[in-house]
Amino acid sequence: MCRNKFIPLSVPNLKGNELAYVTEAVKTEWVSTAGPFIADFEHQIAEYVKVPGAAACQSGTAGLHLSLMALGVKAGDEVIVPTLTFIAAVNPIRYIGAEPIFMDCDDSLTMDAGKLKKFCENECEFRGETLFNKKTGKRVSAVIVVHIFGNLADMEQIISIAEMYHLKVLEDATEALGSYYLEGTYSGNYAGTIGTMGVYSFNGNKIITTGGGGMIVSQNPDLAERCRFLSTQAKKDSLYFVHEEVGFNYRMTNLQAAFGLAQLEQLEDFIKVKQKNYERYICQGVALLPFKENIRSNAWFYSYATKNRDGLIRFLDKHQVQSRPVWQLIHTLKPYRGCQAYQVEKAYQYYECIVNLPCSSNLSETDVDRVAELVKKFEKSDIGCL
Ligand SMILES: *Cc1c(COP(=O)(O)O)cnc(C)c1O
Repeated sequence: MCRNKFIPLSVPNLKGNELAYVTEAVKTEWVSTAGPFIADFEHQIAEYVKVPGAAACQSGTAGLHLSLMALGVKAGDEVIVPTLTFIAAVNPIRYIGAEPIFMDCDDSLTMDAGKLKKFCENECEFRGETLFNKKTGKRVSAVIVVHIFGNLADMEQIISIAEMYHLKVLEDATEALGSYYLEGTYSGNYAGTIGTMGVYSFNGNKIITTGGGGMIVSQNPDLAERCRFLSTQAKKDSLYFVHEEVGFNYRMTNLQAAFGLAQLEQLEDFIKVKQKNYERYICQGVALLPFKENIRSNAWFYSYATKNRDGLIRFLDKHQVQSRPVWQLIHTLKPYRGCQAYQVEKAYQYYECIVNLPCSSNLSETDVDRVAELVKKFEKSDIGCL
């Protein structure tokens, strides 16, 4: 058997000005949390997604943590979050001493807006202007919406529910930089810019990377500014080091921002490749799960539903192709087992059957064809029953 080259699931694509800009940062000796690339990167992201304010930070996780604080979520509150997501969307709730309430997904894999509404309607009550969970007696203060794999949640419904029930909306857009609506109330609006706040991630597997990093955006520039303040140790006076509250060391470095600027220049090209490869899988007979019709998706991750998830993953692995199941549902994981999970059904079904297939923006057409052939071979054979 001839040895095929290894095809990874999702890896960085660094063929632009990354080295040139990072070199400039090194040559000018601005490598830490000050330096011109940081503000530049913030402005360019803000301009790209059309918001007035952005704050660059160390990771998407840090961005979510700061955003929850800026939104006024307090220890003892409850925050509604999907169970089908990466755990980094949930952990920041605990960082501030609040508790998650887990929601089901719909067929887009994002939060089921119908169930969100039912939960607020049936399980919660207003005391004055504030929503409380009848069962726990705790204040329900926010909902975190995750745009899974670059698909977009139903923000039209979610925002109207959130307004009705006085919930703050934080968009975890870490997987969806570049996705936007083509129709409806939010036509032309980017993932992350519709809720009260939004967060992007530049981790190594995301659509653009800074090695590690994140960006907080908001239509309200004061909220982004508040996060920037908290991310720099809540320093009130830079000469005399006056701090009136507990801050964090979460600021992005100039090195990361230099890297990010080079990546951002290529974002639209990456999206084109990802969309083209997505279509190619389908043309080759691999029925990937769809992105919504009414959006321009960044096509970040490809999902394939199969009857024998683990068999397919093992088969691909044997042929030098990396794939993976979707995340374990968060409400079934040890740190979150005791938490409330509301009518979770669909998430179990998708958890059982989804395999993510290689989707890097440097994946060639030949790579796609090879993976597609393997998937078809697996599905046609009896390998699945072994
Ligand atoms: C990647 C990711 C994050 C966290 O981003 P980091 O930059 O790795 O901290 C949060 N939520 C989701 C859904 C993610 O996929």
